[in-house]
This record gives sequence, structure tokens and C-alpha cells, in this order.
Amino acid sequence: MLQREREWRSGGRISGAAWRTGSGVAVLFLLLATGAAAQRTKYKPGWNIFSPQQDVQLGLKASEDARKKLVMCNEPKLDAYLTQVGKRLAAKTPTNGVDYPFEFHCVNDKAINAFALPGGYVFVNRGTIEAARNEAQLAAVMAHELSHVALRHGTSQASKATAAQLPIAILGGVIGGSSSGALLTQLSAFTAGSVLLKYSRSAESQADIMGTQILYDAGYDPRAMAQFFETLEAESKGRATPEFFSDHPNPENRVQRVNAEIPRLGPPLRSPRLDSSDFQAAKKQAAALPVIKAKPGEPSAAGAGKPPAPSVKYVSYQGSAFGMQHPDNWKKYGEGNVISLAPEGGVVRDRNGQEALAYGMIVNQADPHGTPGARDALEVSTEQLIDELQHSNPGMRITRPSQHIRVNGERALSTYLSNVSPAGGQEKDWIVTVLRPEGLLYFVCVAPEGDFPAYESTFEGILDSVRFTR
Ligand SMILES: [Zn+2]
Repeated sequence: MLQREREWRSGGRISGAAWRTGSGVAVLFLLLATGAAAQRTKYKPGWNIFSPQQDVQLGLKASEDARKKLVMCNEPKLDAYLTQVGKRLAAKTPTNGVDYPFEFHCVNDKAINAFALPGGYVFVNRGTIEAARNEAQLAAVMAHELSHVALRHGTSQASKATAAQLPIAILGGVIGGSSSGALLTQLSAFTAGSVLLKYSRSAESQADIMGTQILYDAGYDPRAMAQFFETLEAESKGRATPEFFSDHPNPENRVQRVNAEIPRLGPPLRSPRLDSSDFQAAKKQAAALPVIKAKPGEPSAAGAGKPPAPSVKYVSYQGSAFGMQHPDNWKKYGEGNVISLAPEGGVVRDRNGQEALAYGMIVNQADPHGTPGARDALEVSTEQLIDELQHSNPGMRITRPSQHIRVNGERALSTYLSNVSPAGGQEKDWIVTVLRPEGLLYFVCVAPEGDFPAYESTFEGILDSVRFTR
């Protein structure tokens, strides 16, 4: 279920700020102020439990996996062209002395998107090459990706996820111990992509700004960054959200912020690089590639067979805050109070190649909200949780408002929602929340809408079996 953030706010254009200068003194002051402020915005990598060397290790494994699972362009000329542009940008990417093995690969996917794995493995969809109006716009996307690498956003996000023990479980995947070594092994599958590529809006903004700086330093017209977002916006008129914004959530005033950085970069370039015949050739070549829907020999997520029916034989699971029983043909992912349970085939790959839970149950914990001990603490905390879930899943809708139920004799709230299923179509999410000393414990029961009735009694059976640790 839980997909990466998908949100699209219409790109903010600069609204003409009216400069009123009442006197020469004011003008002079403005000039001085601009002169003093003409300094680049600086960013450093955030908190991280991994070393830069581990970024490379992790990125290499994930990129090998990605290349197996994605449909690659398999066009040496296109890869060579991306590498040529990429290396020019990489040479100007501030890496704090780390020697990342930058690699650039073309993916045969018409969606306008690109991603970079930690350590410098950059993947650019053919759709991006086709949509870019000139080389500078393509370079802008790549510079944005290189900034994610330099700022180590992927492993920084993974570090936070481990600390919070949250999104990793939600993605139906692996949960590591707190040691980065163990996590590294477990994250090595491309499953990791979901965590490694889950950027926040502030990370996006940083990648935009640093990307603009890289563009300028590499001799490109830095305005191409904002222009690419405008191209994306134009491309998406009246159609679905461009995939780029699923992986790179749109920060507020994206275009405005990028343009505000330009005067701070340095003196305007005399003849900035904008386009090349190489780019135009690559664009033609990308457009001529065959359109491949799914990797041959690999069933697409939607076409994959349904999981076997839940077994009526149950096995026990004991966490620290609760114990429960679940069908013996469901696999458990995770540890402690943060687990996912899924039948074989219950975790599917969505259209972005990421693993997500389509059938099964997630148990997780959130921070309580409201006044501790207040009568409505459960209600307030549940509302907050659903708010957060909806924020990261804009397609998520409440279909039945919260109702009081009991779980192991405790007050609980039962809420039904609908969301886009990673298996295709809509899914039903039944969320049960209970306030416990450990925090807001919540159970998310997930199945595609049509299959939900067949799973309902299993979900109820599991919830009935829950015993809280006193
Ligand atoms: Zn991004």
C-alpha cells in the first residue's frame, strides 16, 4: 500500500515583486544589500549512520539489482552520451573529498523520471531525454540527481528510517537492527530503493539549489533547472502527475527558489552551454527505442498471480508490547513491535519497480498526540496518524469514519480507507489503533478491494488474537 509521496503543486512562478525606491539612498542600500547577499546557499550532508564508503557499497549492490529489474535502453551510444554529460557535471559536484564512482545509465521507460542511488549510480529514463528541450535541461535533471548523491540524501533517509523504525516496515520490506552493517546487508536488495529514494521536500529543495550551482559551474545555463520544471509542468497539463514528482516531491515555490539562487552563483556566464548536436542526436535515438511495457520473462505487478488463500492454521508471534497469531503461510518481516505479515506474493512491485504490500498486515507504532492521559488522546492520535498517512498517500480516502471497537479489552478505533493498490486498482485499508504505554500501536490490514472480503475474517482473527503485554 504505502506508496512514496505523490504530490504535485502547481509550480510557483515568480510573482513580480514591486520594487519601490523612494530615494537614491534606498537604491544604494539595496545594491549594498544585494552585494552582501550574493553568496551561494551552502548545504552539507545530513546525519547519517553510514560511511560514504558504505554509500558506494550499498549503491553498487542496489544498482546491479536495478539493472536486472528495470528495462534498460541497452544502447551504448545513449549511455555514452549520458556519461559524457554526467562526468562534466560530476567534476563540479562538491563531494567533500569522497571519490564516488559516478555511473550513468539509460532506462527504457517513457515516464519522465530519473534517480540516483547512493555512491553515484545515476539512472535516467529515456522519457526524460525525450522531454528535455535541450542539453541544459537534461543536465539540470542530472545535476539534481548528483546533488542527492553528494548530500547523501538516500542513506540519510535510511538512517532516519532505521532510527524511527518506521518507513522500512511500512514498505513491507526489511527491518534491520540498529547497526548499519546489518542494515546494509538487508538493504542491499533493490527493495532498498524505496527507502533510499524516499526524499523529503527539504532534500528536494537542496538538490534543486545545489544542482543549479553544479550546472553553472559546469558551464551550463543555470536557468535550465527552472525551465525543466516548467517543461514538466507543461507536459503534465491535464494528465497524471509526472512520475518525477513521485520520486522528487515538489517543494513549495520550487521554480522561484531555484531562480533566486541564480544571481548568487557568480557573474553571468558569457556563453553558457545550452544545447548540442549530441543532445539532439540522443533525443532522436531515445525516441526511436522500442516501447517495452514489462521486462520479458517477468510478470508485471498487476499480472502476477494472487497469493494463496490465508491458511486456517495459525502460528504465534511475540513482540515486546503484544503477542498475536497469524496464518502459518504468512511470512513475517521485521522485529519487535514493528512488523509486516504477508502471504507469498503479497508484496508486489509497483509500476515504479518498488516493493509494496498489496495483501497482508502491518503493525507499527507512532508517537501519541494530544494531551497525555486526556480522554480523547486515542482519537487525536488516530486523526494525526491518518493525516500523516494521507500526506504520503494523497490518493488515500477515508471510506468509513472511525468507530470504537475493543482489542483485547482495550479501547480501540477502527477506520476504513481506500487507496491505490500496488497490485493495480483500488485497495481497502482497515486501520485499527490502540493507545498503549509504548505509543499509538496501529494495525493496517491491506487487500485489493475485490479481494478484501476474502481476507476480512483472517484480519479479524489476527486482531482477536492480539494480547497486550501488561
Ligand atoms: Zn530529487
